[in-house]
Amino acid sequence: FIIPEFTRFTNRIDELFWRAKANTKGKLASYIPQLARYNPESWGLAVCTVDGQRYSLGDALDPICIQSMSKPLTYAMVLDELGPDVVHQYVGQEPSGQAFNTISLDYKNRPHNPMVNSGAVIMCALLKQGMNIADKFDYNQQKLKQLSGNEHISFNNSVFLSERQTADRNFALGYYMKENQCFPKGTNLHEILDFYFQLCSVELNCESGAVIAATLANGGICPTTGQKVLEPYCIRDTLSLMLSCGMYDYSGQFAFKVGLPGKSGVSGGIMLVVPNVMGIFMWSPPLDHYGNSVRGIQFCEDLVRSFNFHNYDNL
Ligand code: GLN
Repeated sequence: FIIPEFTRFTNRIDELFWRAKANTKGKLASYIPQLARYNPESWGLAVCTVDGQRYSLGDALDPICIQSMSKPLTYAMVLDELGPDVVHQYVGQEPSGQAFNTISLDYKNRPHNPMVNSGAVIMCALLKQGMNIADKFDYNQQKLKQLSGNEHISFNNSVFLSERQTADRNFALGYYMKENQCFPKGTNLHEILDFYFQLCSVELNCESGAVIAATLANGGICPTTGQKVLEPYCIRDTLSLMLSCGMYDYSGQFAFKVGLPGKSGVSGGIMLVVPNVMGIFMWSPPLDHYGNSVRGIQFCEDLVRSFNFHNYDNL
């Protein structure tokens, strides 16, 4: 086993989990009305190792929406289909140094990276370009199912409707990018923005999320089914950008302190990848001022204090 003394490991996870539970700081996201209805007490966590050892705690089976944690997954799928040379004609690889929904492009008039909204919308346009929107949606769901080893992946229509109704900023981003010719030819802007809102409204839970993270940790092979879902080069590129851009404007500090690729979402989820070891998925709705889950960040930082998971711990 990759973690030989698994019970000793999970005993420590328990301690860190309950320590984070006591932290009641942070505020619920309010700009998507449906998300403001989460219970601030909720706190769940799940672990899946690359050899399929599992552990979960708290509200690990509550359905939550994936929100921005869909961004690295869509990016990985587009890379798998088109390769990095084509994909990066449309999107950069630099942290933007700005909030995830800022209206700004890089010096080549591309979104800064695929982990911010503008970049993710472009990825939505690139994914299976020839397909109609219904088939694109099915394709995404099917890939997510494979990444999660056929565990809980669903769709939350009220979050989708709520998000679309309050999406002035994302529409503004879309038009700004259209004006700057950021989209591939033939893109229907409204259809693609809808598709983006739908990909944010995909539902999962900590357990299925941990399997997805473990598939990333395992180079694209799902540890629970053994299926090869994505090519290793897509995972490598995705993890690189998660490390530099995955945690909003906290990404630099997160890379410094935790030293692992992660991606957070406004629903309060954090997907953390320990390459070649495991995936961890955390969820707690109260967010800090960067938009990251307060309990999730505390857990990640405590985790690397307890175990040498930081990229540069073993020098
Ligand atoms: N759906 C959200 C938005 O577009 C995703 C943002 C997030 O999770 N940070 O605003």
